[in-house]
Amino acid sequence: MSSPSTSSKPRVLFVDQSGRLGGAELYLLDVARAYRDTSRVVLFEDGPFAGALRDAQIPTTVLESAAAVRNVRKQDGLRALLRALPGLFQTVARLARLARDYDLLFANTQKALLVAGLAGWWTGRPVIWNLHDLLTDDHFTRLNRWAAIWGANAFATHVIANSEASRQAFEAAGGRVPTSVVYNGIDPSPFEAVSSSAVAALRAELGVEDVPLIGLFGRLAEWKGQHVLIEALSSLPTAHALLVGDALFDGDQAYARSLHQRVAELGLADRVHFLGFRADVPTLMTACDVIVHTSVAPEPFGRVIVEGMLAARPVVATKAGGALEIITDGRTGCLVPPSDPAALANTLSSLLHTPDATELGRAGRARARRVFSPEAMQSGIDAVLSRVISNNGQP
Ligand code: UDP
Repeated sequence: MSSPSTSSKPRVLFVDQSGRLGGAELYLLDVARAYRDTSRVVLFEDGPFAGALRDAQIPTTVLESAAAVRNVRKQDGLRALLRALPGLFQTVARLARLARDYDLLFANTQKALLVAGLAGWWTGRPVIWNLHDLLTDDHFTRLNRWAAIWGANAFATHVIANSEASRQAFEAAGGRVPTSVVYNGIDPSPFEAVSSSAVAALRAELGVEDVPLIGLFGRLAEWKGQHVLIEALSSLPTAHALLVGDALFDGDQAYARSLHQRVAELGLADRVHFLGFRADVPTLMTACDVIVHTSVAPEPFGRVIVEGMLAARPVVATKAGGALEIITDGRTGCLVPPSDPAALANTLSSLLHTPDATELGRAGRARARRVFSPEAMQSGIDAVLSRVISNNGQP
C-alpha cells in the first residue's frame, strides 16, 4: 500500500456513475480540474462526460465492468439489485486496486457511493459523498432512499450537500454523517465574455430577432416542468421560448415526445424552439430576456438559476428546495408556485414589460458572483478534504 500524499494537494479518486453531462457531472468537472495533478476520475460508462474530462486533461478511467451497476434504475426493486451483484463485486475490486494510490475516495453520485464505499472499506481509505439530490419521495422510491442513507451511514466519513435543502432532507431521511453545505460555484467569465454581436447573430440564426424571448435550460424530464412553460406561453401571445436541453435519462424520451405533441396541439410550434443539448449556454442565456426554471418537484440546487443570474437576466424560479437559497423573491429574481402556468405567465408578462427587470437581473448577477463563485466552492471542498485527511478518515 502506498503512503498518503505529502504534496499540498490531496490525492483524490473521484467516482461518478454517469457518462452524460448532467449538473452533477459539470460540477465534478470543475472540482476535479483543481486536483488534476494528483487525482483521477473513475466513471461507470464512457460518453460525453469522459470526453470533457479528457479534454480538460484530467486523468480518467472508465470501468466497463460497472455496466451491471449502472443499469439498475431508481424505480427498480430488490430483484434487480440482486442481479447486479456479480458486476458490483468486480467493479468494487477494480476500484479498490486503484484506490490504494489515493488518499481518499470522493463519490459524486449514489451508485458511486455504494461502490466507492465498499472499495474504501476494503482499502481503509476514507470516503466523501457529494450529495446532489433531495432524498425525498418526490424523487426516489423508499428502497432507493434507504439504500442511499444506509450507504452514507455505513461508508461515508463526510457528506457534502449541494444545498441546505439537500442537507435537511438527508438528515430527515436518517443520515447521521457529519455534513457540510458547499454550493456549486459557477465561473462568471464565459458570461462576461458574451458580446452583443454574438447575441445578435444567435437571435438571427434562431429567427427570433425582435421578439420577447424566454429561456428554459435543463434536461427534458417531467419533474423539470417544461410543460408548465408551454402552457404559460399560450397566454403570452408575442413571446417565444427556447427549450435548451435533451432527454438524458430512462423514461424521459416519452416526456420529450409529449412536449412536442402539446406544442402542436396548442398551435405554438412557431414560438417554441427545441434546441436539444447545447454547449453555448452563456450566449443563449444572454440572448434571452428572461430565464425560467419550472421544476414541479423541489430542486436540490439548480445550477441553471445561478447561470441565468450570471447572465444578468431576471430569473423566475419555482418556490421550493434549493431555489429558495439562491433567489430572494423580488430582489434577486422572482419565485412562483410550482405547477402554476397562470402565475408563471403573470410574472413573465410583468417582467417582459418593465424596465425594473434590468435592475433585477443586475442584482441577481451581483449575488451570484458573490455567493456562488468557483473560489467559494473550492475553499469549501478544500476544507472538507483537509479535515477528513487530518482526522485520518475518522468523522
Ligand atoms: N446544460 C448544458 N446544456 C444544455 C442544458 C443544460 O450545458 O443544453 C447545463 C446547465 O448549464 C447546467 C446543467 O446543465 O450547468 C444543469 O444543472 P442543474 O443543476 O440545473 O440541473 P441537473 O441536471 O443537475 O438536475
